[in-house]
Amino acid sequence: MEVSDLIDPLNPAQREAVTAPLGHALVLAGAGSGKTRVLTHRAAWLVRVEGATPWNLLAVTFTNKAAAEMRGRIEERLGISRSGLWVGTFHGLSHRLLRLHWQEAGLPQGFQILDSEDQRRLVKRVMRDLELDENRWPVRQLQGFINARKDAGERAEDLDSADPYTGQMARVYAAYEQACRSAGVVDFAELMLRTVEMLQNHLELLGHYRRRFRHVLVDEFQDTNGIQYEWLKLLAGPESDVFIVGDDDQSIYGWRGARVENLERFRKDYTNTRVLRLEQNYRSTRTILDAANTLIARNSDRLGKKLWTEGEAGEPIALYAAFNEQDEARFVVERLMAMVDEQGLARSDIAILYRSNAQSRTFEEALMARRVPYRVYGGLRFFERAEIKDALAYLRLIANRDDSAALERVINTPTRGIGNRTVETLRIAARDQDISLWAAARGLVTHGGGLPARAGNALRAFLDLIDGLAAETAEVALPERIETMLTRTGLRAHLGKDSSDRAQDRLENLDELITAAGNFEQDTSVEAEMEPLTAFLAHAALEAGEGQAGAWEDCVQLMTLHSAKGLEFPVVFLAGLEEGLFPHRMSVEEPGRLEEERRLAYVGITRARQRLLITYAERRRLHGRDDFAIASRFIRELPPALVDEVRARFSVTGPNAAGSGLGEEAATATEAAFGLGERVQHSRFGEGVVLDCEGNGPNARVQVNFNDAGTKWLVAAYANLERI
Ligand code: ATP
Ligand code: MG
Repeated sequence: MEVSDLIDPLNPAQREAVTAPLGHALVLAGAGSGKTRVLTHRAAWLVRVEGATPWNLLAVTFTNKAAAEMRGRIEERLGISRSGLWVGTFHGLSHRLLRLHWQEAGLPQGFQILDSEDQRRLVKRVMRDLELDENRWPVRQLQGFINARKDAGERAEDLDSADPYTGQMARVYAAYEQACRSAGVVDFAELMLRTVEMLQNHLELLGHYRRRFRHVLVDEFQDTNGIQYEWLKLLAGPESDVFIVGDDDQSIYGWRGARVENLERFRKDYTNTRVLRLEQNYRSTRTILDAANTLIARNSDRLGKKLWTEGEAGEPIALYAAFNEQDEARFVVERLMAMVDEQGLARSDIAILYRSNAQSRTFEEALMARRVPYRVYGGLRFFERAEIKDALAYLRLIANRDDSAALERVINTPTRGIGNRTVETLRIAARDQDISLWAAARGLVTHGGGLPARAGNALRAFLDLIDGLAAETAEVALPERIETMLTRTGLRAHLGKDSSDRAQDRLENLDELITAAGNFEQDTSVEAEMEPLTAFLAHAALEAGEGQAGAWEDCVQLMTLHSAKGLEFPVVFLAGLEEGLFPHRMSVEEPGRLEEERRLAYVGITRARQRLLITYAERRRLHGRDDFAIASRFIRELPPALVDEVRARFSVTGPNAAGSGLGEEAATATEAAFGLGERVQHSRFGEGVVLDCEGNGPNARVQVNFNDAGTKWLVAAYANLERI
C-alpha cells in the first residue's frame, strides 16, 4: 500500500493527526469523527514513514471485537498478516505477557483464567472455609470488593485491617489469593495487577519492553481505570511516544473505576502532548447526529467539542411505544425482517442495543420464533453456558490438576457416587495441608484416611479417569480430544439424557464447542510455545465466545450498549428506553451517575449510521417482576421535530362478518382495526387492553387483558368488542 493511500482517505484535521511529528498526542473528538480510523492510519504511518517496525508498536483497546478489527485494519494497511502484532485489549495483552514470563510473574506455567462465575464460586468456598455468614457478607459484594481493590492496585496486606469491616473483607481477600495460588488460577483483574507488579519487580524485563514499544497507541482512552493507566505508564517508557484517542462524552465505565480525569492526567504526566481535535462526523445522518448533540448538551461536565456532518438529513428517528416487552420484541423483529426481506439489508447491518443483559431474552425468543439468525455479544455468552462450562472444567482439569474450582464443578457431574461428604473431607484435607483438592484426593486414596471404601473407590476411579484422559489424548488434535473427553466422562450422555429441546440445545452446544476448537487458530508468534489445550482454554476465558462458530453467518447483532462502544451499524434499534431501566433506577438520584447514563445513551444513538429506531414498553416483566414504566427522560430530551411516533395497527375482522355467508372476501372488507394497547369494552368481561391479534377473516382472534377477568383470547367476530 502506498503512503498516499494512508493519507488520501482523510480530512485535513485527521491528516494532521496521522502525520504529526513524533511525540505524544491526544486526539479528543466526538463519536464517529474518525478517531479509530486515525489511530490505525497512524500505526501504519509510523511503520511506513517514520521507520518503525511492527515490532515497535503496542496498540490497546477495550473490546475483543474492536481489537480484532484494529489488528485487521493495521495489517491490511501494512500488507502483513498474522504477524504477532501487539494489538489487543488490556486483558489480552496482559495475558500474553504473563504467558511469556510466567516465571517472573510467579505463576505456574499452565495457569488458567477464572471467569467471573468461577471467581464467585471460589470466593464462596473461601467464605465457607472462614465460616462467614453469606447473609451478612454477600458473595457478590465480596467479589466486587476484591476486584475493585485489584483495579486500584491494592493487595490484601495493603488494606487497613484495624478497621473491623475492612479487616474482615481483607481476610477473605487474603484467603482468596491463597486459594488462587494453590489452584494455579488468575482472575481477570489479577491479569492486570500481576502484570504491573511483574514489570515493577523485574526492571530488566521492563527495560526490554520499554525499548521495544517505541510507539504506544490507545483507543477509547476515556475509559481507562487506575491500574490500566499504571500499566500504560510502565510500558510506555521515557523514550516512547504515546498516541491516545478518546471522547469524554463516551466515558461509560465510571461504575467500574474508569476515570475520565485520566485524560487530564495524561496531559500533565506526558508534557508536550499535542492536542488535536476532529469535528466532522462521517458516520451518521444529520438527524441522528443532531439528536445525539442535543442530548449530550445537557451534561454539565464536558470538555466541550463540536461535531457536524456534511451528510444528508436522513429519516426521522422512529419511536415506538410498545404495550409490553413482548410487543416491543415483536415490533423490532417485524421491522427488521421487513428491512431484510423488502429492502435487501444484510442482517448483520442491524443491531439491537439494550441497557442490561437480561433484556436480550425476549428478543432472542422472538427472533428464534421467526427463525431469524442472530448473535448475542456479551450476556450469557457461549462459553458461559452451563454445559460448556462443565466441558471446559474437565478440560481445565486435564490441563492443570490443581485447578480446584474445575475439580469441584465436575467431580460428581455426571453423578458417580462422590457425595458432598467426600468433597467436604477433601476440602478439609486440602485446607489443612495447604494443597489443591486434587492433591488431597490423591493423598486420601493412596494413604487412606477417613473415607468409606465405596467413596474411596469412586474417587480413585475419577482420578484415574482424568489422568487416563490426559495421558491418552495428549497427542491428538484438540477437537478429537474434546470428543473423547465428552464420551469417556459420560458428560455427553448425561447432558443429552432427557428428550427435551433443552437437552437437544445442550448437545448442539457441545458440538459447537468441538467446532470452535477446530476453528481455533493459535496466534503463532506468541502462543507457539503454549500447549494447544491451554491456548484454547485461555481463548475461551478471554474472548468469551466472540470467535465462536457461526460468526461468518449473516446474523442480527444483539448487545448491550456497553459492548457496542466503538462499533457502527446502518440500522440501530435502541430498546427499553424507560425510566428506571434506562436511566437505571440506581443512577437517577446521583447527578454524576445520571450523566454517565446520558453518555451511554449518546453512545447508543451515535452507533447508528442511517436509521435509528427507539422503543420502550409501557409495561415490562424483568427479573420476574411486572413494572409499569414511563418513557425515558432521554426520549424527551431529543428534539421533537426529529422524532416520528410509530403507531401499530392491527386488522381484525369486525363482528358483522360472521355467518353472513359472504365468505372471506366480504369478511376482510369489513375490517375493524384494533391497535395493540388500545382500550376496549366487552359485555361480560368489562374493560381491558388489546395485547395481541392473530389470523384474519372469520378466524381472527384478539388477546385482551381485562382489568378484572384477566387475559383472554377471543374470536373477534363474536366478541363484540367496543373501543373506548
Ligand atoms: P467512536 O467515537 O464511535 O469510536 P470514531 O471517532 O472512532 O467513533 P471511526 O469509527 O473511526 O470514528 O469512524 C466512523 C466512520 O466514519 C467509519 O465508518 C469510518 O470509516 C468513517 N470515516 C472516518 N473518517 C472518514 C473520512 N475522512 N472519509 C470518509 N469516511 C470516514
Ligand atoms: Mg472509535
